[in-house]
Amino acid sequence: MKLRQTNLEKLASEDFDVLIVGGGINGAVSAACLAARGIRVALVDRGDFAGTTSQESSNLAWGGIKYMESFELGLVRKLCMARNRLIRAYPSTVQRIGFYLTHDRSFRKSRLLLWIGTWLYWLIGDGFLRRPRLLSVADMKEEEPIVNVSHADGGVEYDDAYLHDNDARFVWNFIRGALNHGGVAANYVEVTAATRAGDGTWSVAARDVLGGTPLTLRARIFLNACGPHVDALNAVLGTTTTHRHVLSKGIHLIVPRLTSSRRVLSFFADDGRLFFVIPMGPRTCIGTTDTRVDDPHVHVTAEDRRFVLENINSRLNLAKPLTEADIIAERCGVRPLAVSTEAAHGKASRDWMQLSRKHAIEVKDGTISIFGGKLTDCLNVGEEIYDEVTRLGVRARFPERKWYGEPPDEVKDEFFHQATLMDLDALTAESSSEPLSTRLWRRYGAEALGLLESIRQDPRQAELVIENAEYLRCEIEEAARREMVTKLDDFLRRRSKIALVVSNKVLKEAAGLKDACAILFGGEAEAKLDEYFATRKRDEAPRAAAD
Ligand SMILES: Cc1cc2nc3c(=O)[nH]c(=O)nc-3n(C[C@H](O)[C@H](O)[C@H](O)COP(=O)(O)OP(=O)(O)OC[C@H]3O[C@@H](n4cnc5c(N)ncnc54)[C@H](O)[C@@H]3O)c2cc1C
Repeated sequence: MKLRQTNLEKLASEDFDVLIVGGGINGAVSAACLAARGIRVALVDRGDFAGTTSQESSNLAWGGIKYMESFELGLVRKLCMARNRLIRAYPSTVQRIGFYLTHDRSFRKSRLLLWIGTWLYWLIGDGFLRRPRLLSVADMKEEEPIVNVSHADGGVEYDDAYLHDNDARFVWNFIRGALNHGGVAANYVEVTAATRAGDGTWSVAARDVLGGTPLTLRARIFLNACGPHVDALNAVLGTTTTHRHVLSKGIHLIVPRLTSSRRVLSFFADDGRLFFVIPMGPRTCIGTTDTRVDDPHVHVTAEDRRFVLENINSRLNLAKPLTEADIIAERCGVRPLAVSTEAAHGKASRDWMQLSRKHAIEVKDGTISIFGGKLTDCLNVGEEIYDEVTRLGVRARFPERKWYGEPPDEVKDEFFHQATLMDLDALTAESSSEPLSTRLWRRYGAEALGLLESIRQDPRQAELVIENAEYLRCEIEEAARREMVTKLDDFLRRRSKIALVVSNKVLKEAAGLKDACAILFGGEAEAKLDEYFATRKRDEAPRAAAD
């Protein structure tokens, strides 16, 4: 909490070059890029960082193979290059994964055409990943017996990438990067109004959502990175833009692990869209849906659940069909899709599923707005924002500074060398899905060296605190000190993915949760626990009522 308090004080007392409103992926990469290059940047979010759309994605860094069908080859090329760049920059986090696509005999395109499409996709992506494979029914029966091939004439396997940990953790690391470079950031701070003085400086009215305290922030440029709420905030500012959003709701269900293979099983769902079975550590994530909505505040409906469960049950050979009782957690969000104002009234309503997923950046009257976009394209967004900010006259002291990526190989070698010397992997818990050193490096990068030191000083720091959750005592202390965990949900759902892989019921009874809370919140631990379970109960009430 100390980190947040210090940042709140800086927000109120300093003048900034750029104020970023919204700490999803687009705001986070902008902050990381601007701060590393020596621009004075502040970022606020009215909830937690990545607490809205950026915690609800499919966790894929992909080249957008589905846009091949609408011949958006330029977009596919751009996304493939963005994906390749992410894999190179974050080898322990963004990893290659095979997509095992089943082809139904009745599908609108032939299997051969699909195979040609995957080859074209591979070539557009510079042949960076493995070549596609044509699969016969016999191959599929042997390699993935869980796939129901009774209506299939085979399939194809092609490569893309996924985020090993979790989208929200990926976003957090950019926020942390911005803080490391002198950026100022605070969660639970809402922007409510803004006015621009004659010299162009913004005076922005904000409110600490937790205590209700009003704040005034000052900046030369106002960056609106509110995702699906960009239009609402622009309306508050009185900024009119040529782009706006239309919203597509998507859900995922997390269920017990369905297969141990490290592949994404993919299918064409009943509505013709790609549908995935994605590995998520000890669980499986299934989805998604694509429903046009007007309101960004969405929740999973009984119909959504039915759609996902029916699709999965008919496409997999399961000993027992999945039911609502198997759902461990749910994810639900809206994709903000950028359209130009005319399209929002015309094409969008006619041809909605084919809408482009390109992002757009618009500069108007001292504001910059980011429309649409994907996690995959985040490094480009960061750099485009940097270009716009400098074009508006802000000087960067370190314009060539690299602002993203894992630490250099020498740091990595040193970490693994120290870990080997202290036999760290011997401390890996039996329930763990990977060696301890691999996990610590992926989550903390260079900071993981500090964790080794804590374990050397006190071996109890290597104890697992919460049953079934891959978190050591020293990691929770790290989270308390450096990760601006303000509510328990910030830790359980976003800095970690514990709330996604451990059901609420099990979590409630988990030995160690109280200990973890005491480390995170000290004297406020009890109140934070109560707040968390009260919110979970409220969020899950509609599902309980439908049961
Ligand atoms: C179901 C689904 C699946 C997806 N799958 C993928 C995928 O696999 N790969 C991929 O690349 N992309 C995927 N996407 C797209 C991707 O998740 C989004 O494009 C991206 O997360 C949008 O990020 P953002 O920063 O623009 O918005 P957000 O993450 O929504 O962030 C905006 C932030 O602004 C804050 N805010 C709003 N108003 C205010 C205010 N007044 N004051 C302060 N803060 C405010 C909100 O609290 C929020 O945290 C998916 C999206 C969905 C919904």
